[in-house]
Amino acid sequence: MPETVVMKFGGTSVADAERLKRAARRIVAKRENGTRVVAVLSARGKETDQLIAAANEVSPNPDPREMDMLLSTGERVSCALCAMAINDLGHRAISLTGSQAGIVTDTSHTKARILEVRADRIRDALAEDSIVLVAGFQGVSTARDVTTLGRGGSDTTAVALAAAIGAEICEIYTDVDGVFSADPRIVPDARKLPVVSFEEMLEMSSSGAGVLQLRSVEYARNHGVKIHCRSSFHDRPGTVVVAEQETMEHPLITAVTHSTGEARVTLKGVPDTPGIAGRVTTALADANVNIDMIIQNEPVSEGHRADMSFTVPRDDIPTAQQAIAPIAQELGVEVATDPSMGKVSIVGAGMKTHPGVAAKVFTTLGENQINIEMISTSPIRISCVVPGDRVPDAVRALHSAFGLSGEDSIRPEEPFGPFS
Ligand code: ADP
Ligand code: ASP
Ligand code: MG
Repeated sequence: MPETVVMKFGGTSVADAERLKRAARRIVAKRENGTRVVAVLSARGKETDQLIAAANEVSPNPDPREMDMLLSTGERVSCALCAMAINDLGHRAISLTGSQAGIVTDTSHTKARILEVRADRIRDALAEDSIVLVAGFQGVSTARDVTTLGRGGSDTTAVALAAAIGAEICEIYTDVDGVFSADPRIVPDARKLPVVSFEEMLEMSSSGAGVLQLRSVEYARNHGVKIHCRSSFHDRPGTVVVAEQETMEHPLITAVTHSTGEARVTLKGVPDTPGIAGRVTTALADANVNIDMIIQNEPVSEGHRADMSFTVPRDDIPTAQQAIAPIAQELGVEVATDPSMGKVSIVGAGMKTHPGVAAKVFTTLGENQINIEMISTSPIRISCVVPGDRVPDAVRALHSAFGLSGEDSIRPEEPFGPFS
């Protein structure tokens, strides 16, 4: 059996006719090496953003089912165009929607989860020597409606297909050279990481490194798919995501990540009685809103009321408000929102066994007059919610404080200053 590879091209990599033709040539070159190719494409350039804007122009609260009908068109356009370009290069290509490719999801519109991949049609097309192009970011629900997989979801399509057809590797071609020690758009001297573990990549993706969608990393870890994230503009190797024991180096801190799309929701004057946090979080979970950090301050004295704050993705504010409105009304609680929050995180497997990292993070932010509003940690991550407009400064300060640029990144066996 010839080798099979999944190649995924992101929006910037197929943004115009020239780039689409370049992707087509790259796919064909791989095929001519004797490899079977399934290519997953994103919508061109800012197409998804434009479709969302178009929906908002006609409706303040677009119906989620219709939203998915709309959003799924972007990737379909890219695939049909690319198939035409590949045909002109003398190869047989067939484009498929997510539904035609057998991607079955749950019914949670605009952030559906893949339940199953029925890849028979892809296998048949590969056996007939076709190059198969699959529209990323979409599937068909168990209720037979078109669904989409959440922003950045084409990464997950690619990984799920790689798992289903037993591809040797899932290559994610994008507009940067791989996964870096920080977003290279914010930290120009960030370091490309040749190898990163699933454990660290999961923390990075979940704290804002959108270069790989979180679910794609989860899926790859659960199904043993090897990801190679690399540039679509040249042929140099990028970043390979591998199981923990295969990573070559173990720096103390691997990366600084950030997100600017955070909002804080505060319930003011919540009665200090058991069960309320449970009710609020259940209502949000039922509405499919992901809560990130939660803080509840203690009432000053018994019988008093407390404040409860949590962060949610900014786009989820209306849904979150709707979900908690009945509870807030019943308890006579005021709900306030602050949509301008950001988050900066440091991730590194080395911090598990190394005290003093948190102190260095907080001191660095303090020295830069950056106020920390909320904090959360995992064994290999420390995250701070900070004012949205200070996020770039916070990222640069932490990246420099932990010596992550170029070759001078710190190893756990080396002391790193007054807090080690
Ligand atoms: P695509 O359209 O190819 O899917 P994305 O925009 O989803 O591309 O992801 C690539 C972008 O991710 C880069 O342009 C970069 O700005 C951003 N990014 C954020 N954090 C990182 C990081 N740690 N390493 C690399 N890129 C990052
Ligand atoms: N086009 C979708 C988005 O912009 C999916 C993707 O590119 O992965 O989020
Ligand atoms: Mg992406």
